[in-house]
Amino acid sequence: MEKREKIYEGKAKQLFTTDNPDLLVQYFKDEATAFDGKKKGIIEEKGVLNNKISSRIFEMLEKKGVKTHFVERLSDREMLVRKLRIIPVEVVIRNVAAGSLCKRLGIEEGMTLKEPTLEFFYKSDPLGDPMINEYIARAFGWATDAELGQMKEAAFRINSILSEFFSVRGIILVDFKLEFGEHKGEVLLGDEITPDGCRLWDKTTREKMDKDRFRRDLGKVEEAYQEVLRKVME
Ligand code: ADP
Ligand code: UDP
Repeated sequence: MEKREKIYEGKAKQLFTTDNPDLLVQYFKDEATAFDGKKKGIIEEKGVLNNKISSRIFEMLEKKGVKTHFVERLSDREMLVRKLRIIPVEVVIRNVAAGSLCKRLGIEEGMTLKEPTLEFFYKSDPLGDPMINEYIARAFGWATDAELGQMKEAAFRINSILSEFFSVRGIILVDFKLEFGEHKGEVLLGDEITPDGCRLWDKTTREKMDKDRFRRDLGKVEEAYQEVLRKVME
């Protein structure tokens, strides 16, 4: 497999074509952003940690029958993935109230929800990923009814698998964001599953082990990502 030209540079990753038109190399950077890119910084070695964390989680999900873009981890910062036509609808699943849900509804962070929830957001940097619903996604042709159905089913299944996976490692999966895309007529899970896009709390101390440490200047950011890697490798 030969890595060729860079086709995309995002906030946290770069994408490269390969000699196989169906495959891309996903390269993980150390750059971190928050608040729609208004806050910028570097989390030392984040790219390496996130590549390893995401590879481990995608491998585990594949073994459980979840269809993903993951092919293999190539190096410290590179992952080989199937090329997707990304569906511009982000899926957020929550088990515990935090972040924008608390802001929107005026509730305190930390309440365990009676059941997991699902929200859709339109993937648009200039608009700051506004919240949408299924009618909007269909009306603008961002996703079909069948795609939305598959995304919802996969997202709740992934939540069950991941909640258990983290729970036995002493971590609460508070919430997380997923991206899906189409590859040869199938809907696959894409992007990454890392502390950049998940809220992870220590079960005993409820200490944050995710990007909220960067967002809220809580310190020990690298240490938290390292601890998540150590736990997911157990
Ligand atoms: P952003 O675009 O939000 O700044 P990143 O820096 O993480 O985010 O860039 C990665 C980009 O690659 C995202 O836009 C994501 O939707 C896209 N992507 C993730 N996996 C794939 C894939 N398998 N095929 C094509 N695009 C992908
Ligand atoms: N999230 C993400 N990318 C986004 C928006 C949210 O990865 O563009 C993740 C975020 O890290 C959290 C979950 O999705 O784990 C829910 O985020 P929320 O809607 O609470 O927004 P936030 O307050 O984090 O901006």
